[in-house]
Amino acid sequence: MKVKLLTHAVNHEARHRYHELNTITGTSSLVTRYLPRVALRARSEYPYSFREDDAFYPAQGQGFGRVIRASRSEGLSAIHEQISEKDKEHAWTFVPEAGLWVDTALSAGEHDVNPDRDLEVYLSHLFPEVLHAHTHPDKVLEACAQNYPWAFSQNYLVEGAIPSVDDVMGSFQMAARSASGCKINNGVVSHYGLTTYAPVQLLERNGCLRDTAPSKIVHPFIDPITAIRGALQMRHHRVVMDPMIDGIPPKPAYTFDFEPLGSYSGR
Ligand SMILES: [Zn+2]
Repeated sequence: MKVKLLTHAVNHEARHRYHELNTITGTSSLVTRYLPRVALRARSEYPYSFREDDAFYPAQGQGFGRVIRASRSEGLSAIHEQISEKDKEHAWTFVPEAGLWVDTALSAGEHDVNPDRDLEVYLSHLFPEVLHAHTHPDKVLEACAQNYPWAFSQNYLVEGAIPSVDDVMGSFQMAARSASGCKINNGVVSHYGLTTYAPVQLLERNGCLRDTAPSKIVHPFIDPITAIRGALQMRHHRVVMDPMIDGIPPKPAYTFDFEPLGSYSGR
């Protein structure tokens, strides 16, 4: 798919979708309804102007709107290869059908990244499947600077593979706003590989999604991949859908999976 075509399609989708999106979030107005272009220009990067690039991480500053041609595995290994060199998080949406990765990061910090959620929604309406991926950079350098013992650094690396409360809640809101026919995958790339997570189902009537925080502290001496899978299994039981009806217990609301990358993929 040509980048020009993608730009045209996303801008078209934005104009037609923006008011509806604002209706869902309770922020609609006469302007979003009758003058969507004006509202879009005021509150987003519209008109989107995508440009092709070869590198996954931006050379400097903001990388939003760059489009990289690569398969799923090419993209994941390129992102993972540099995970230890980066001090800030980053975010992309991969579109399998087009073989394109779109840089969606509006801003990024050491512990968070702010992807353009509206752009993610538009892409879900244009394609049958997407992967929203972001990074959790290594915190080992930080740990060493603070003179933490190695076991602590090791925990940092393992914990990097666990999606945060914000990650889970954010992806749940996204699932509610995105196209129902689109297969949406969410992923975190960290030191040991890719963690994927997805809701089992949308919110039940009167139900409540509860997340009782990520699993902390793992045994420092077990194999990290085993530790990650164990922590994700615990996370699976902690993110629950509570139907809020007496006698009906909460049930797990998310599935988590882990795919080792790079030198860890042989394990
Ligand atoms: Zn995260």
